This record gives sequence, C-alpha cells and structure tokens, in this order.
Amino acid sequence: MQALIMSSKEAVKSAAKEFIQFVNKGVSPYHVVEECKRRLLAAGFIELKESEQWDIRPSSKYFVTRNYSSLIAFAVGGKFLPGNGFSMIGAHTDSPCLRVKPRSKRLKHGCVQVGVECYGGGIWNTWFDRDLTVAGRVMVKSGDCLVHRLVHIPRPVLRIPNLAIHLQRDVNDSFGPNKENHLVPILASAVQEELETGSAPSGDASAANNTAEKHPPALLKLLCSELSVEPEHLLDFELCLADTQPAALGGVYEEFIYSPRLDNLHSCYCALQGLLDSCSGDSLSNDPNVRMITLYDNEEVGSESAQGAQSNLTELILSRVSSSSSNLTAFQQAAPLSFMISADMAHACHPNYSEKHEENHRPTFHKGPVIKFNSNQRYATTAVTAAVVREVASRVNVPLQDVMVRNDSPCGTTIGPILAARLGVPVVDIGAPQLSMHSIREMCCTSSVLQSTTLFKGFFEYFPSVRKSLVVD
Ligand code: ZN
Repeated sequence: MQALIMSSKEAVKSAAKEFIQFVNKGVSPYHVVEECKRRLLAAGFIELKESEQWDIRPSSKYFVTRNYSSLIAFAVGGKFLPGNGFSMIGAHTDSPCLRVKPRSKRLKHGCVQVGVECYGGGIWNTWFDRDLTVAGRVMVKSGDCLVHRLVHIPRPVLRIPNLAIHLQRDVNDSFGPNKENHLVPILASAVQEELETGSAPSGDASAANNTAEKHPPALLKLLCSELSVEPEHLLDFELCLADTQPAALGGVYEEFIYSPRLDNLHSCYCALQGLLDSCSGDSLSNDPNVRMITLYDNEEVGSESAQGAQSNLTELILSRVSSSSSNLTAFQQAAPLSFMISADMAHACHPNYSEKHEENHRPTFHKGPVIKFNSNQRYATTAVTAAVVREVASRVNVPLQDVMVRNDSPCGTTIGPILAARLGVPVVDIGAPQLSMHSIREMCCTSSVLQSTTLFKGFFEYFPSVRKSLVVD
C-alpha cells in the first residue's frame, strides 16, 4: 500500500485527474457511453452492431452499445479458441438523479418551473441549492429520419432553493423533502420570461399535444439552440439534471476526490482504463481468454430493462463471441472458465457514524479496493472468487479490504448476483471505498483510482494463469 501512496504520488494524482476528466464528461448514461466510445475508438477498438453479422478475430478489439446507454467492449486474446473463458469486469453507467418529466411545464407564484421525476434512490436533500443543468438525449426529426442526439447545457440554468430556516425551525432535525412538491427546480421568473418573450408564461401542460407545448418555452429554446434545430423537430427526450460544479481534488493534501456520480463512474472508468492498459503491452497476444468490460444502464432502478444487467445483452454477446461451427457447446464450456469482477463502489467507514459499520469490517481510504461479502446473496462473492481476486491483487501489489454489513443493517446490492445467476459465471463483488454514496456530490480518495486500474489490468493479464492454478473439483 505504502508503495502505491508514497513512491508514486505523481502517478496517483495523474490517474485521479484523468478520472476527473472522465466523470465531468459523464453527465448522463448517454454521455458516459459517448466518452467510453471515444476512448475505445482512439485505442483501436472496432464498433460492432448487434444487428449485423460479426467476424471476430483473435488479437482484435471490439465494442457494442445498446440503447446508447450500455456498452460492452472486448479484446480477444491471441490464443483464444471457442470454448475458452471470458475475463470480465462489470459496472453501471447510471446514477440517481432527477429527470425532466414528459410534460414538464409548471408555473407557480411567479416562477417558471420544470417538473422532474426521481430516478433511483438519491439523497434528495443534497439537490437543494445546487447550480443545476440538464443533459441527456433528444430525439430529433430530421427530414424523414428520427435522429438520436446528445445534449448538455454547459451552464447553471436550474435551481431547487431551500426553504429559509425562519420558516421551518426544525429543518436541521429532519429534512426529508416531499418528492413531488418540494423538488421542483426554478428555471426563470415569470416576469423575466414575459419581458424576454413578450407573452405571459403558462404552467399548464395537461392538454398539450406537441413537445413545444409540453415544456417551458425557455427550456426548449435552450435545447434547440444547443442542438441547432427548430422546436417543432424536437420529439421526445430523456434529460437528467446534473450539478454544474466540476469534480475536483480536495483535502489539505489533495488526497480526496469530490465529485458527482462516483457511484459508479469510478468503476466504469477504472474498468475501461484497466482494459485499455492491459491491451497496450503484448500480453493480449498470449491470452487464451477474451478480456471484456460490461457497463450497464439502469442498475439504480433494479437492472430490469432492455439494456440493464438483467437483459439478454451479455448472454447474447458471450454466445456470439464463443460461437463455432465445430464446437456447438463452446458457450456452455466457456461459462465455468470465465470470471466476472462486479465493480461498484463500497462504503468507507464514516468517522461520525462509525457505529453504523460492523466492527471488524470498516473500510478506510487508501487501503485498497473492498471485497464485499453477503451470504444472503446481496453480493455474489464466494470463497473461491475472493481467493482468485486476492491472488491477482498480490501479484500486482494492490492491497484489499473486506466488508460485510451489520446483521441489524440494511445492505445494498449490485449487478453481481444478477449476472452470476443469469450467466452461471463465478463473480466477485468489489469496489473502491467512498463516502456520501447517492449524494449529488460524493467523496473518495485519489489513490483508489490507480489501485483499481492496477488491479483490473492485473486481472486481465493474470486471470487465465490464476484460473489454471485453481483446484475446486
Ligand atoms: Zn452503484
């Protein structure tokens, strides 16, 4: 551990800064996929379409997207034969956020507002008094085509103000907003809106029958100018609200990262970087396995969607890559030889609430990625999968921690148990320690980026040999 913190302080910081660039671009799941795609193409990966026939070759690198919000990228080992295993790291592209409702127009007491829906289990009171914007995807009618476009307004345009303490003296005792009434951001004042447009704004979208009437005109104008399209060409959209404050290094020694969406863009980034780093040397040419990262949308709402971890996406891709006219059971043979690291953030021990953490399982910053255990299968880790990842970690000199929740505490879950069940592949659940999970602004430590990318690169390079050493029959 000391080696990773002290002797390579510059490497730790530069890995953290690179992650910060990534997370600042990943303002919605669509933007996460866009940024991954950009980095994969730059590294020589070839884009495949699910709807086309594939010709998969050893020592080649590919990726596929679904719904433009999930992505699977893979590099085929030079020694790969159908029936060989897949070395996989899975993570998720979505984070809890507020999303613009399909009819968002609101007008209340002189304020032009935007109706929003809660996506996932956010700590909603952290969304108050933040400088918010919108980002996501828009369907645009262009000639005879319906075109998917990404949009991100790069300045603060929305705000959900707190109610002054004078009007609610008990706010510091228990602040839980009503999710329908109190979480409605303000876009403009009605007075200014009228000055700008020459007509009084309306807040009724119930009878609207086209996009232009469903949302505040000022919001549509902003989107249209960003996309260079006419309002009548905007069809539908999925817009996430996002904090405009960029992620930053923090703490007196700049040892922390203060950032939105650490859960789970930290894992997406480290999985991607681990894969790219592992392909930059010549180890891929001797690899009998396929190295794969699987980044899914909709984990925060249960993964049950066409592009979620519960979908058929992973299975279809594994079976297509395995398919062989001379070995009809290649896919079935591959499953037990494969392995997945389910990468999702872990709770570091909160110094002010240490009693919430089990006394012997209190992960701390800088001490490495955390293996998550839960025999009730909220996490998929087994003794076998933990041992495999410990062996990889020892080869690349990355420390590991263990976590388990108290018996009287609720426990989160991940895509790990879902994929273990769907694919029949051994899975370990692991993640970097963080605080403030599901807040609009979270916190982790800088060293966790280099530790995770080093572990993941090591996993891709060493898993086949560690698997060979495994005696479980
Ligand atoms: Zn997560």
